[in-house]
Amino acid sequence: MYDYLIVGAGFAGCVLAERLSTLKNKKILLIDTRSHVGGNAYDYFDDDGLLVHMYGPHIFHTNSSRVFNYLSDFTNWRFYEHKVLSYVDGKYLPFPINIDTINNLYGKNFSHAKEMKAFFRSRSEFREEILSFEDYVVGKIGWDLYEKFFKNYSIKQWGIDPRNISASVAARIPVRTNFDDRYFTDKYQCIPSNGYTKMFNKLIDHPKIEIKLGINYHELKRKIEYGTLIFTGPIDSYFGYKYGRLKYRSLNFSFKEFDKEYIQRTAVINYPNDFPYTRTTEFKHITGQSHPKTILMYEFPCDTGDPYYPVQNSETLAVFKKYKDMVGRTKKTLFVGRLGTYQYLNMDQVVEQSLSTFDRIARC
Ligand SMILES: Cc1cc2nc3c(=O)[nH]c(=O)nc-3n(C[C@H](O)[C@H](O)[C@H](O)COP(=O)(O)OP(=O)(O)OC[C@H]3O[C@@H](n4cnc5c(N)ncnc54)[C@H](O)[C@@H]3O)c2cc1C
Repeated sequence: MYDYLIVGAGFAGCVLAERLSTLKNKKILLIDTRSHVGGNAYDYFDDDGLLVHMYGPHIFHTNSSRVFNYLSDFTNWRFYEHKVLSYVDGKYLPFPINIDTINNLYGKNFSHAKEMKAFFRSRSEFREEILSFEDYVVGKIGWDLYEKFFKNYSIKQWGIDPRNISASVAARIPVRTNFDDRYFTDKYQCIPSNGYTKMFNKLIDHPKIEIKLGINYHELKRKIEYGTLIFTGPIDSYFGYKYGRLKYRSLNFSFKEFDKEYIQRTAVINYPNDFPYTRTTEFKHITGQSHPKTILMYEFPCDTGDPYYPVQNSETLAVFKKYKDMVGRTKKTLFVGRLGTYQYLNMDQVVEQSLSTFDRIARC
């Protein structure tokens, strides 16, 4: 008999397993269909000893001291500020767009925010209402920059025209009027110095936590006894897709190893053009590993496969609401994490959500 069955050994599952065992002395069974812990943040060393993020580049960034301090009990950190270039008109340009991007692209010599603002104003197009991704970007910086940096990238990433993507998705990508070429501006930006997997192993290293990998909740649920279920997998799968499947965008990854120390200038290069992949990642920039070889990951977005990005629109949100209404009637089951709550959450947000869930449990 377990106090808790926790489905999913990603950030949500592992943080809750750690809190409930350490602070409440609860007996936990933590399971995952995958053969490893860490969920999408899992990393591993390949045959040549290169550290690889199996499900795409994961950069930890947060403004939350609570989240940063909590995780710091389980890892040391390597300070790392993420940089991205976009391959546009045969040039590798800083992204998010900043003064250097505009100067290099249009042969300008701007050095002040005032000049950038005036430039964007002269390029932007009036939109009566800002409803879509396209409205947002074109209304802010104009058609040319939209076509060069955003349009094709978004079509590849989401598989639909940006006219059908919510403006809120575009609002997540800043446009800078200074020289800042960092992708994120959070207070804490770092990477676990020995990798994410080591940090996860430390999180769940507790005598009260039992871990079973390579096992699906639906196969196990009738075979064991437990008090409360914490489900961090897709909420629609839990309810047997009773109201239909929620839409997710997935990714295929391909890897190529090179016999040289570095292959690209920054960790990530975006390809907002007709290349079949959206971006390439060279992990060594992120991990700081020194190694004579290097590895490049190519990302190919697709509709089928592991659920990565919730595709939120009025239709999918209506279906999600039906599942959410069922949650209220499901006693002793909590839904946590990116898939359990059907929203795009970064790692720090998942940790925050999991710590708050624990606080609520502890108060009862
Ligand atoms: C390509 C990509 C890049 C990202 N980059 C960043 C980044 O740079 N920075 C950042 O902060 N965030 C990033 N994220 C987001 C980050 O991956 C998530 O915030 C985080 O991993 C979510 O943790 P989670 O525990 O909610 O879900 P997950 O990590 O998805 O874990 C859920 C686990 O549940 C398991 N599971 C599902 N159903 C079942 C079942 N029926 N039975 C058993 N197990 C089950 C799954 O196998 C999975 O391991 C990125 C995500 C992707 C896809």
